[in-house]
Amino acid sequence: MIALNNHASGRHFLQIPGPSPVPDRILRAISLPTIDHRGPEFGALGVKVITGLQKIFQTQHPVVIYPASGTGAWEAALVNITSPGDAVLMYETGHFASLWQKMAVRLGLAPEFLALPGTDSTTGLPRSWRHGVQADMIEKRLKEDTLHTIKAVCVVHNETSTGVTSDIAAVRRAIDAAKHPALLMVDTISGLASADYRHDEWGVDVTVSGSQKGLMLPPGISFNAVSPKALEASKSAKLPKAFWAWDEIIEMNRTGYWPYTPNTNLLYGLSEALDMLLEQGLPTVFARHQRWAQGVRAAVRAWGLEIQCADESVYSPVLTGIVTPQGIDADALRKSIHGRFDLSLGAGLGKVKSRMFRIGHLGDCNDLTLMAAISGIEMGLKLANVPLKNSGVVSAMDYFAATSKI
Ligand code: PLP
Repeated sequence: MIALNNHASGRHFLQIPGPSPVPDRILRAISLPTIDHRGPEFGALGVKVITGLQKIFQTQHPVVIYPASGTGAWEAALVNITSPGDAVLMYETGHFASLWQKMAVRLGLAPEFLALPGTDSTTGLPRSWRHGVQADMIEKRLKEDTLHTIKAVCVVHNETSTGVTSDIAAVRRAIDAAKHPALLMVDTISGLASADYRHDEWGVDVTVSGSQKGLMLPPGISFNAVSPKALEASKSAKLPKAFWAWDEIIEMNRTGYWPYTPNTNLLYGLSEALDMLLEQGLPTVFARHQRWAQGVRAAVRAWGLEIQCADESVYSPVLTGIVTPQGIDADALRKSIHGRFDLSLGAGLGKVKSRMFRIGHLGDCNDLTLMAAISGIEMGLKLANVPLKNSGVVSAMDYFAATSKI
Protein backbone atom coordinates (compact mmCIF):
# COMPACT_ATOMS: atom_id res chain seq x y z
CA MET A 1 0.00 0.00 0.00
CA ILE A 2 1.30 3.48 -0.86
CA ALA A 3 1.59 5.65 2.25
CA LEU A 4 -0.71 8.65 2.48
CA ASN A 5 1.11 11.77 1.34
CA ASN A 6 0.84 14.33 4.11
CA HIS A 7 3.01 16.78 2.16
CA ALA A 8 0.65 17.45 -0.69
CA SER A 9 1.54 21.14 -0.78
CA GLY A 10 4.80 22.79 -1.82
CA ARG A 11 7.38 21.30 -4.15
CA HIS A 12 8.94 17.89 -3.97
CA PHE A 13 12.70 18.15 -3.26
CA LEU A 14 14.43 16.17 -5.98
CA GLN A 15 17.99 15.96 -4.69
CA ILE A 16 19.08 12.86 -6.54
CA PRO A 17 22.10 13.17 -8.86
CA GLY A 18 19.94 13.16 -11.95
CA PRO A 19 17.42 13.38 -13.37
CA SER A 20 17.92 16.85 -11.94
CA PRO A 21 15.18 19.39 -11.26
CA VAL A 22 14.29 21.12 -14.54
CA PRO A 23 14.10 24.95 -14.50
CA ASP A 24 10.67 26.40 -15.35
CA ARG A 25 12.21 28.27 -18.28
CA ILE A 26 13.17 24.93 -19.86
CA LEU A 27 9.82 23.29 -19.06
CA ARG A 28 8.06 26.18 -20.78
CA ALA A 29 10.27 25.83 -23.87
CA ILE A 30 9.47 22.11 -24.06
CA SER A 31 5.73 22.86 -23.93
CA LEU A 32 5.74 24.80 -27.24
CA PRO A 33 3.92 23.23 -30.22
CA THR A 34 5.75 20.45 -32.03
CA ILE A 35 6.97 21.50 -35.48
CA ASP A 36 7.73 19.64 -38.72
CA HIS A 37 11.12 17.98 -38.25
CA ARG A 38 11.74 18.25 -42.01
CA GLY A 39 10.54 21.86 -42.27
CA PRO A 40 12.66 25.03 -42.58
CA GLU A 41 12.39 26.13 -38.93
CA PHE A 42 13.69 22.82 -37.69
CA GLY A 43 17.01 23.06 -39.55
CA ALA A 44 17.83 26.30 -37.74
CA LEU A 45 17.07 24.66 -34.37
CA GLY A 46 19.21 21.63 -35.24
CA VAL A 47 22.21 23.74 -36.22
CA LYS A 48 21.78 25.91 -33.12
CA VAL A 49 21.75 23.03 -30.63
CA ILE A 50 24.69 21.24 -32.25
CA THR A 51 26.77 24.43 -32.30
CA GLY A 52 25.85 25.19 -28.69
CA LEU A 53 26.72 21.66 -27.60
CA GLN A 54 30.17 21.98 -29.17
CA LYS A 55 30.78 24.90 -26.79
CA ILE A 56 29.63 22.82 -23.81
CA PHE A 57 31.81 19.82 -24.75
CA GLN A 58 34.60 22.30 -25.61
CA THR A 59 35.11 20.75 -29.03
CA GLN A 60 35.38 21.88 -32.65
CA HIS A 61 34.31 18.42 -33.82
CA PRO A 62 30.90 16.74 -34.34
CA VAL A 63 28.50 16.12 -31.47
CA VAL A 64 25.89 13.47 -32.29
CA ILE A 65 22.51 13.71 -30.52
CA TYR A 66 20.49 10.52 -30.00
CA PRO A 67 16.85 10.26 -28.91
CA ALA A 68 17.91 7.79 -26.20
CA SER A 69 18.97 7.69 -22.57
CA GLY A 70 22.67 7.69 -21.69
CA THR A 71 22.85 3.91 -22.02
CA GLY A 72 22.12 4.29 -25.74
CA ALA A 73 25.01 6.74 -26.14
CA TRP A 74 27.32 4.25 -24.31
CA GLU A 75 26.35 1.62 -26.86
CA ALA A 76 26.80 4.07 -29.73
CA ALA A 77 30.33 4.88 -28.55
CA LEU A 78 31.31 1.21 -28.42
CA VAL A 79 29.67 -0.03 -31.62
CA ASN A 80 31.00 2.80 -33.76
CA ILE A 81 34.66 2.12 -33.11
CA THR A 82 35.08 -1.58 -32.31
CA SER A 83 34.94 -4.96 -34.06
CA PRO A 84 33.77 -8.28 -32.60
CA GLY A 85 36.16 -9.62 -29.95
CA ASP A 86 38.17 -6.39 -29.63
CA ALA A 87 39.98 -5.82 -26.36
CA VAL A 88 38.98 -2.67 -24.47
CA LEU A 89 40.55 -1.47 -21.24
CA MET A 90 37.95 -0.25 -18.73
CA TYR A 91 38.38 1.01 -15.18
CA GLU A 92 36.10 0.23 -12.23
CA THR A 93 35.24 3.43 -10.38
CA GLY A 94 31.73 2.36 -9.40
CA HIS A 95 28.36 1.12 -10.57
CA PHE A 96 28.20 3.01 -13.87
CA ALA A 97 31.70 1.98 -14.92
CA SER A 98 30.61 -1.61 -14.10
CA LEU A 99 27.44 -1.32 -16.22
CA TRP A 100 29.44 -0.01 -19.18
CA GLN A 101 31.82 -2.96 -18.79
CA LYS A 102 28.86 -5.40 -18.74
CA MET A 103 27.55 -3.81 -21.90
CA ALA A 104 30.92 -4.35 -23.59
CA VAL A 105 30.67 -8.06 -22.72
CA ARG A 106 27.12 -8.25 -24.12
CA LEU A 107 28.30 -6.63 -27.35
CA GLY A 108 30.90 -9.38 -27.80
CA LEU A 109 33.93 -7.31 -26.86
CA ALA A 110 36.70 -8.48 -24.53
CA PRO A 111 36.86 -5.85 -21.80
CA GLU A 112 39.61 -5.93 -19.23
CA PHE A 113 38.48 -4.27 -16.00
CA LEU A 114 41.19 -2.57 -13.96
CA ALA A 115 40.47 -1.64 -10.34
CA LEU A 116 42.29 -0.64 -7.19
CA PRO A 117 42.38 -3.89 -5.21
CA GLY A 118 40.97 -4.43 -1.73
CA THR A 119 38.49 -2.85 0.62
CA ASP A 120 38.78 0.28 2.65
CA SER A 121 39.66 -0.30 6.33
CA THR A 122 37.35 2.40 7.78
CA THR A 123 34.16 1.64 5.81
CA GLY A 124 34.65 -1.85 4.34
CA LEU A 125 33.72 -0.45 0.90
CA PRO A 126 35.72 -1.40 -2.23
CA ARG A 127 38.73 0.96 -2.48
CA SER A 128 38.17 1.40 -6.19
CA TRP A 129 34.74 2.90 -5.40
CA ARG A 130 36.31 5.60 -3.20
CA HIS A 131 39.02 6.81 -5.59
CA GLY A 132 39.27 8.07 -9.17
CA VAL A 133 40.91 6.33 -12.11
CA GLN A 134 44.59 5.59 -11.40
CA ALA A 135 46.22 6.72 -14.64
CA ASP A 136 49.50 4.96 -13.77
CA MET A 137 47.71 1.59 -13.81
CA ILE A 138 46.42 2.37 -17.31
CA GLU A 139 49.89 3.40 -18.48
CA LYS A 140 51.44 0.20 -17.09
CA ARG A 141 48.83 -2.03 -18.75
CA LEU A 142 49.14 -0.27 -22.11
CA LYS A 143 52.95 -0.58 -22.02
CA GLU A 144 52.53 -4.35 -21.60
CA ASP A 145 50.28 -4.44 -24.68
CA THR A 146 53.17 -4.28 -27.14
CA LEU A 147 51.04 -5.71 -29.98
CA HIS A 148 48.50 -2.90 -29.52
CA THR A 149 45.53 -5.24 -29.28
CA ILE A 150 43.66 -2.86 -26.94
CA LYS A 151 41.38 -0.72 -29.12
CA ALA A 152 40.06 1.71 -26.54
CA VAL A 153 40.44 2.91 -22.96
CA CYS A 154 37.04 3.61 -21.36
CA VAL A 155 36.66 5.65 -18.17
CA VAL A 156 33.92 7.49 -16.31
CA HIS A 157 34.63 11.16 -15.62
CA ASN A 158 32.07 11.74 -12.86
CA GLU A 159 31.05 8.43 -11.27
CA THR A 160 27.47 9.16 -10.27
CA SER A 161 27.28 6.15 -7.96
CA THR A 162 30.08 7.38 -5.70
CA GLY A 163 30.64 11.13 -6.08
CA VAL A 164 34.21 10.67 -7.31
CA THR A 165 35.64 12.33 -10.43
CA SER A 166 38.62 11.22 -12.49
CA ASP A 167 41.45 13.20 -14.03
CA ILE A 168 40.84 12.69 -17.75
CA ALA A 169 43.87 14.73 -18.87
CA ALA A 170 46.02 12.35 -16.79
CA VAL A 171 44.50 9.35 -18.57
CA ARG A 172 45.35 10.93 -21.93
CA ARG A 173 48.93 11.54 -20.71
CA ALA A 174 49.12 7.89 -19.64
CA ILE A 175 48.04 6.67 -23.10
CA ASP A 176 50.57 9.00 -24.75
CA ALA A 177 53.35 7.99 -22.33
CA ALA A 178 52.74 4.36 -23.28
CA LYS A 179 52.90 5.41 -26.97
CA HIS A 180 49.70 3.40 -27.46
CA PRO A 181 47.20 4.07 -30.28
CA ALA A 182 44.09 3.16 -28.20
CA LEU A 183 41.17 5.56 -28.46
CA LEU A 184 40.11 7.35 -25.27
CA MET A 185 36.38 7.06 -24.51
CA VAL A 186 34.91 8.98 -21.59
CA ASP A 187 31.49 8.88 -19.95
CA THR A 188 30.67 12.32 -18.59
CA ILE A 189 26.94 11.68 -18.44
CA SER A 190 26.71 13.34 -15.04
CA GLY A 191 29.73 15.64 -15.33
CA LEU A 192 28.93 17.66 -18.44
CA ALA A 193 27.77 21.24 -17.85
CA SER A 194 28.39 20.96 -14.09
CA ALA A 195 32.05 19.93 -13.86
CA ASP A 196 34.81 21.30 -16.10
CA TYR A 197 35.13 19.08 -19.16
CA ARG A 198 37.34 19.65 -22.24
CA HIS A 199 36.89 17.14 -25.06
CA ASP A 200 39.51 18.59 -27.43
CA GLU A 201 42.10 19.85 -24.95
CA TRP A 202 42.12 16.55 -23.03
CA GLY A 203 42.47 14.53 -26.24
CA VAL A 204 39.28 12.53 -25.79
CA ASP A 205 38.13 10.53 -28.83
CA VAL A 206 34.54 9.79 -27.84
CA THR A 207 32.71 11.59 -25.05
CA VAL A 208 29.38 10.16 -23.93
CA SER A 209 26.84 12.34 -22.16
CA GLY A 210 23.13 12.73 -21.46
CA SER A 211 20.44 15.36 -21.02
CA GLN A 212 19.13 14.76 -17.51
CA LYS A 213 22.02 15.98 -15.35
CA GLY A 214 23.99 19.21 -15.83
CA LEU A 215 22.02 20.18 -18.92
CA MET A 216 18.96 20.35 -16.64
CA LEU A 217 16.63 18.61 -19.13
CA PRO A 218 14.37 15.65 -18.59
CA PRO A 219 15.87 12.26 -19.57
CA GLY A 220 15.59 11.29 -23.22
CA ILE A 221 18.49 12.61 -25.25
CA SER A 222 22.14 11.65 -25.14
CA PHE A 223 25.32 12.49 -26.96
CA ASN A 224 28.56 11.33 -28.52
CA ALA A 225 31.26 13.96 -29.13
CA VAL A 226 33.53 12.45 -31.75
CA SER A 227 37.19 13.22 -32.57
CA PRO A 228 38.55 12.95 -36.15
CA LYS A 229 40.53 9.85 -35.04
CA ALA A 230 37.34 8.17 -33.75
CA LEU A 231 35.48 9.05 -36.94
CA GLU A 232 38.28 7.47 -38.97
CA ALA A 233 38.20 4.34 -36.77
CA SER A 234 34.44 4.05 -37.29
CA LYS A 235 34.96 3.52 -41.03
CA SER A 236 36.67 0.16 -40.53
CA ALA A 237 34.97 -0.94 -37.27
CA LYS A 238 32.96 -4.12 -37.83
CA LEU A 239 30.48 -4.38 -34.95
CA PRO A 240 26.97 -4.12 -36.47
CA LYS A 241 25.55 -0.59 -36.24
CA ALA A 242 22.58 1.03 -37.90
CA PHE A 243 20.58 3.36 -35.63
CA TRP A 244 23.76 4.36 -33.78
CA ALA A 245 25.99 4.82 -36.87
CA TRP A 246 27.63 8.24 -36.82
CA ASP A 247 28.17 8.69 -40.57
CA GLU A 248 24.59 9.32 -41.78
CA ILE A 249 23.68 11.38 -38.74
CA ILE A 250 26.73 13.65 -39.02
CA GLU A 251 26.09 14.10 -42.74
CA MET A 252 22.45 15.17 -42.24
CA ASN A 253 23.32 17.25 -39.16
CA ARG A 254 25.30 19.63 -41.41
CA THR A 255 21.98 21.27 -42.32
CA GLY A 256 20.37 20.66 -38.92
CA TYR A 257 18.36 17.52 -39.75
CA TRP A 258 18.40 13.83 -38.74
CA PRO A 259 17.94 10.59 -40.68
CA TYR A 260 15.09 9.70 -38.28
CA THR A 261 12.57 11.63 -36.17
CA PRO A 262 14.46 13.55 -33.48
CA ASN A 263 12.68 14.41 -30.21
CA THR A 264 11.64 17.88 -31.24
CA ASN A 265 10.35 19.21 -27.93
CA LEU A 266 13.36 18.04 -25.93
CA LEU A 267 15.49 19.89 -28.47
CA TYR A 268 13.55 23.10 -27.68
CA GLY A 269 14.48 22.44 -24.08
CA LEU A 270 18.09 21.83 -25.04
CA SER A 271 18.18 25.10 -26.96
CA GLU A 272 16.91 26.93 -23.86
CA ALA A 273 19.36 25.11 -21.57
CA LEU A 274 22.26 26.06 -23.84
CA ASP A 275 21.15 29.72 -23.77
CA MET A 276 21.01 29.64 -19.97
CA LEU A 277 24.41 27.96 -19.56
CA LEU A 278 26.18 30.05 -22.16
CA GLU A 279 24.62 33.32 -20.90
CA GLN A 280 26.06 32.54 -17.47
CA GLY A 281 29.37 31.30 -18.86
CA LEU A 282 30.83 27.88 -18.13
CA PRO A 283 33.33 29.11 -15.48
CA THR A 284 30.41 30.56 -13.47
CA VAL A 285 28.43 27.33 -13.84
CA PHE A 286 31.39 25.20 -12.69
CA ALA A 287 32.12 27.51 -9.72
CA ARG A 288 28.47 27.34 -8.63
CA HIS A 289 28.57 23.55 -8.45
CA GLN A 290 31.89 23.57 -6.60
CA ARG A 291 30.47 25.94 -4.02
CA TRP A 292 27.32 23.87 -3.49
CA ALA A 293 29.46 20.76 -3.09
CA GLN A 294 31.61 22.53 -0.46
CA GLY A 295 28.49 23.56 1.47
CA VAL A 296 27.14 20.01 1.43
CA ARG A 297 30.49 18.57 2.53
CA ALA A 298 30.59 21.11 5.38
CA ALA A 299 27.33 19.57 6.62
CA VAL A 300 28.57 15.98 6.26
CA ARG A 301 31.78 16.77 8.16
CA ALA A 302 29.82 18.48 10.93
CA TRP A 303 27.64 15.39 11.32
CA GLY A 304 30.84 13.36 11.61
CA LEU A 305 29.84 11.06 8.74
CA GLU A 306 32.17 9.69 6.07
CA ILE A 307 32.22 11.19 2.56
CA GLN A 308 32.44 8.30 0.14
CA CYS A 309 35.13 9.97 -1.99
CA ALA A 310 38.35 9.31 -0.07
CA ASP A 311 40.52 11.67 -2.14
CA GLU A 312 39.86 15.40 -1.68
CA SER A 313 41.46 16.25 -5.01
CA VAL A 314 38.68 14.41 -6.91
CA TYR A 315 35.54 15.34 -4.96
CA SER A 316 32.60 15.60 -7.34
CA PRO A 317 31.03 19.06 -7.75
CA VAL A 318 27.82 17.32 -8.91
CA LEU A 319 26.94 15.05 -6.00
CA THR A 320 28.17 13.90 -2.61
CA GLY A 321 28.11 10.27 -1.50
CA ILE A 322 27.68 9.76 2.24
CA VAL A 323 28.50 6.46 3.92
CA THR A 324 26.16 5.59 6.79
CA PRO A 325 27.66 4.19 10.02
CA GLN A 326 27.77 0.37 10.29
CA GLY A 327 24.31 -0.90 11.23
CA ILE A 328 22.44 2.03 9.66
CA ASP A 329 20.67 0.93 6.50
CA ALA A 330 20.98 3.85 4.07
CA ASP A 331 17.94 2.69 2.07
CA ALA A 332 15.73 2.64 5.17
CA LEU A 333 17.02 6.12 6.04
CA ARG A 334 16.21 7.43 2.55
CA LYS A 335 12.77 5.86 2.67
CA SER A 336 12.02 7.49 6.02
CA ILE A 337 13.23 10.90 4.78
CA HIS A 338 11.20 10.59 1.60
CA GLY A 339 8.06 9.58 3.44
CA ARG A 340 8.30 12.23 6.14
CA PHE A 341 9.76 15.22 4.28
CA ASP A 342 9.04 14.67 0.57
CA LEU A 343 12.77 14.70 -0.21
CA SER A 344 14.32 12.25 -2.70
CA LEU A 345 17.96 11.24 -2.17
CA GLY A 346 20.08 8.98 -4.40
CA ALA A 347 20.37 5.31 -3.42
CA GLY A 348 23.58 3.34 -2.96
CA LEU A 349 23.94 1.22 -6.11
CA GLY A 350 25.57 -2.14 -6.76
CA LYS A 351 28.40 -2.94 -4.34
CA VAL A 352 27.47 -0.06 -2.01
CA LYS A 353 23.72 -0.74 -1.88
CA SER A 354 22.23 0.32 1.47
CA ARG A 355 25.69 1.41 2.74
CA MET A 356 25.49 4.97 1.44
CA PHE A 357 23.18 7.61 0.00
CA ARG A 358 23.79 10.47 -2.41
CA ILE A 359 22.88 14.16 -2.45
CA GLY A 360 22.69 15.73 -5.90
CA HIS A 361 23.70 19.39 -6.18
CA LEU A 362 22.84 20.05 -9.80
CA GLY A 363 20.02 21.28 -11.99
CA ASP A 364 17.48 23.86 -10.79
CA CYS A 365 18.97 24.17 -7.34
CA ASN A 366 20.13 26.98 -5.07
CA ASP A 367 21.52 27.53 -1.57
CA LEU A 368 18.08 27.29 0.00
CA THR A 369 16.98 24.13 -1.81
CA LEU A 370 20.22 22.59 -0.58
CA MET A 371 19.58 23.88 2.95
CA ALA A 372 16.15 22.24 2.79
CA ALA A 373 17.73 18.96 1.70
CA ILE A 374 20.37 19.14 4.45
CA SER A 375 17.64 19.89 7.03
CA GLY A 376 15.58 16.92 5.85
CA ILE A 377 18.61 14.66 6.10
CA GLU A 378 19.57 15.93 9.56
CA MET A 379 16.04 15.32 10.82
CA GLY A 380 16.06 11.85 9.25
CA LEU A 381 19.45 11.00 10.81
CA LYS A 382 18.22 12.06 14.25
CA LEU A 383 15.03 10.05 13.86
CA ALA A 384 17.18 7.02 12.95
CA ASN A 385 19.22 7.60 16.15
CA VAL A 386 22.44 8.17 14.21
CA PRO A 387 24.85 9.86 16.61
CA LEU A 388 25.78 13.26 15.12
CA LYS A 389 28.84 15.27 16.22
CA ASN A 390 27.39 18.67 15.34
CA SER A 391 24.63 20.26 13.31
CA GLY A 392 25.29 19.97 9.57
CA VAL A 393 22.52 22.52 9.00
CA VAL A 394 24.40 25.17 10.98
CA SER A 395 27.73 24.41 9.26
CA ALA A 396 26.18 24.54 5.79
CA MET A 397 24.34 27.79 6.62
CA ASP A 398 27.59 29.33 7.86
CA TYR A 399 29.38 28.23 4.71
CA PHE A 400 26.69 29.48 2.33
CA ALA A 401 26.33 32.77 4.19
CA ALA A 402 30.09 33.40 4.28
CA THR A 403 30.46 32.70 0.55
CA SER A 404 27.24 34.38 -0.63
CA LYS A 405 27.25 37.41 -2.94
CA ILE A 406 24.69 40.10 -3.73
N1 PLP B 1 26.73 6.71 -16.85
C1 PLP B 1 26.58 7.50 -15.78
C2 PLP B 1 27.79 8.10 -15.15
C3 PLP B 1 25.31 7.73 -15.26
O1 PLP B 1 25.15 8.53 -14.19
C4 PLP B 1 24.18 7.13 -15.87
C5 PLP B 1 22.83 7.34 -15.32
O2 PLP B 1 22.64 7.88 -14.27
C6 PLP B 1 24.40 6.31 -16.98
C7 PLP B 1 25.67 6.13 -17.45
C8 PLP B 1 23.26 5.63 -17.67
O3 PLP B 1 22.46 6.60 -18.29
P1 PLP B 1 20.87 6.39 -18.48
O4 PLP B 1 20.33 5.97 -17.17
O5 PLP B 1 20.42 7.76 -18.94
O6 PLP B 1 20.71 5.37 -19.55
